[in-house]
Amino acid sequence: TPALSVSNLRKVYRGGTVAVDDLSLAVEEGDFFGFLGPNGAGKSTTIHCITGIATVTSGTIKVFGIDAVKDYRKARSLVGLSPQEFNVDVFATPVQIVDWVGGYFGIPSAERKKRIDELMERFDLTEHVKKPFRALSGGLKRRVILARALIHKPKLLILDEPTAGVDVELRLDLWRYLGELNRDGTTILLTTHYLEEVERLCRNIAIVAKGKIVRQGPKEEFLAGG
Ligand code: ADP
Ligand code: ADP
Repeated sequence: TPALSVSNLRKVYRGGTVAVDDLSLAVEEGDFFGFLGPNGAGKSTTIHCITGIATVTSGTIKVFGIDAVKDYRKARSLVGLSPQEFNVDVFATPVQIVDWVGGYFGIPSAERKKRIDELMERFDLTEHVKKPFRALSGGLKRRVILARALIHKPKLLILDEPTAGVDVELRLDLWRYLGELNRDGTTILLTTHYLEEVERLCRNIAIVAKGKIVRQGPKEEFLAGG
């Protein structure tokens, strides 16, 4: 079974906008998959459909074989999401933000605490754990969101523009973390506007335009073909 399989996905918003139109794609387990395309192409909407944030108009989505439309709670437990818009309490601390999601996934509090310590250490957040989210720099905020996405050890990690607005040095840190996570076995799907990010991290790529996949394949084919 693929980590993610989307078939004939269609999403029409209430206002009538066709954001995703007959989109199909498959991401194999262990892949680092680049989901690319211009603004408004339907990338975030697709991600919202996969993660149960948006309702699906038609089509099917499976996460490790689990129907993410019918059984989105179960599917969601396998997916970590770093959304474009963070949707956090900006007065909460990194620990509180990550802990809340750990609670949502039903992780017992002792295990949660241990896991949060590990994540704070892994992402070099230890010295910032007592600060409110709003006091953190863009790069630190991104790392908190990444820690939040990983608290339940998801098998599939979805990152919507993970390094947007992050300065160069911190972007390199994030790339290193993401490379490590993928090497440790986490399947990753990422949207980005940075070509360098794609070149460094991704193995396979799909290009979406106007809600449809227009091209899909290994990264090398894109770089060679132009
Ligand atoms: P759904 O069909 O999934 O219920 P809605 O049509 O209710 O989604 O939209 C959800 C919210 O997103 C609404 O409050 C809507 O105003 C807002 N919204 C509308 N247009 C956009 C846009 N272009 N980008 C992001 N959000 C939008
Ligand atoms: P991308 O992530 O590729 O920039 P989006 O999925 O955000 O694309 O947007 C696809 C289309 O759907 C755009 O036309 C956008 O304006 C519209 N859209 C996105 N979110 C909403 C929403 N909540 N309600 C209505 N329209 C939306």
